[in-house]
Amino acid sequence: MTDTIEAAATQSLLPTYARYPMALVKGEGSWLWDDKGNKYLDFMSGIAVTNLGHAPKRIKEALVKQLDELWHVSNLFQIPNQAEAAKLLTDNSCGDAVFFCNSGAEANEAAIKLARRYQQLVAKNGRYEIITFEQSFHGRTLATLTATGQAKVKEGFAPLPEGFKTIPYNDIEALKAAISGVTAAVMLELVQAEGGVHPANADYIRQVAELCEREGILLVVDEIQTGIGRTGKLFAYEHYGIQPDIFTLAKGLGSGFPVGAMVAKEKLREGFTAGSHGSTFGGTPIATAVVKATLETIVGDELPARAAEQSVYLMEQLRNKLASASFVKEVRGLGLIVGIECEGPVANVLTEAQNRGLLVIAAGPNVIRLLPNLLVTSEEIDLAVSILAELLEAAK
Ligand SMILES: *Cc1c(COP(=O)(O)O)cnc(C)c1O
Repeated sequence: MTDTIEAAATQSLLPTYARYPMALVKGEGSWLWDDKGNKYLDFMSGIAVTNLGHAPKRIKEALVKQLDELWHVSNLFQIPNQAEAAKLLTDNSCGDAVFFCNSGAEANEAAIKLARRYQQLVAKNGRYEIITFEQSFHGRTLATLTATGQAKVKEGFAPLPEGFKTIPYNDIEALKAAISGVTAAVMLELVQAEGGVHPANADYIRQVAELCEREGILLVVDEIQTGIGRTGKLFAYEHYGIQPDIFTLAKGLGSGFPVGAMVAKEKLREGFTAGSHGSTFGGTPIATAVVKATLETIVGDELPARAAEQSVYLMEQLRNKLASASFVKEVRGLGLIVGIECEGPVANVLTEAQNRGLLVIAAGPNVIRLLPNLLVTSEEIDLAVSILAELLEAAK
């Protein structure tokens, strides 16, 4: 990368990211190119965003068509793409009503607001507390970082909003002990992705859902990373035989275009009325043209099933080829969120993988996270696994 770009970034951007000294300038399918012409196999998909690969043709066509027609009008008007995108979401999920926003944190913020407002104004029980879990990740706004079960995202931001409680994950007794007369909602990820790629225990999730139902507590599932086909189902909750009251989406929803959504069950509709929540940019004609094209492609081409198939192959190859690497502790995941837990820090392995032309990310210090796009081929999996096997065999 030209030194001038790096110097300008250092000088003019707030230092919120530890950036690699690399500028990616072009992408196609599973492949990326940097400004020096080096080619990379992308097994991180912009952190589970580009589920259809880079620059997917059908999505680009929908976007360009909409750019020629209309960009923005505000939610004071009917927006046909928004209504149609919402219908695609509700037709293909357990949800009944959608609110569009622009990011994951905003989707979770909307979920927290809707859960509280429903309990306080519809159920009229005064409940406000949101129970969340250690190692979870829910976003960076004040409410969502408070909901996040990781101390590092909270440091220096006091005072934090009240009404959140964080408890251990996969521990039903801890949840029973935490519930009280003020519990409004339980909010969780079905695979804790940022927290180290930990899929929830199926029995535990069924018990959580039953307990919530019995106690009138809303179950909010954060599907921001797991949704849109990533885990081998359109939404991860389908693996668990549950129906969340609210689930949230962002990352894969726009194939790389920024958009978020909160999807709620029918009874929650009355939780919001005109004016109780809103977003200037939420669900613009452009954003929802992209959502429509993304959902039509993922549902129409049965890509969740394809992701499930490729997941079986990826996990099998990893388990075979990494069997003799003593640095590797465990390979786990759900669909195409895969974690390789190692005996020590993996930062060096990530950098060496980049040097070998493979992009992967970490999930915590000791876990390598693989997030290939849903169209990844078996040949691309073979290539990624062979690079990782060689690096991990040598790692200590
Ligand atoms: C990425 C992520 C978020 C936050 O999304 P932003 O778009 O960065 O605000 C929230 N929850 C989960 C599970 C995520 O993976």
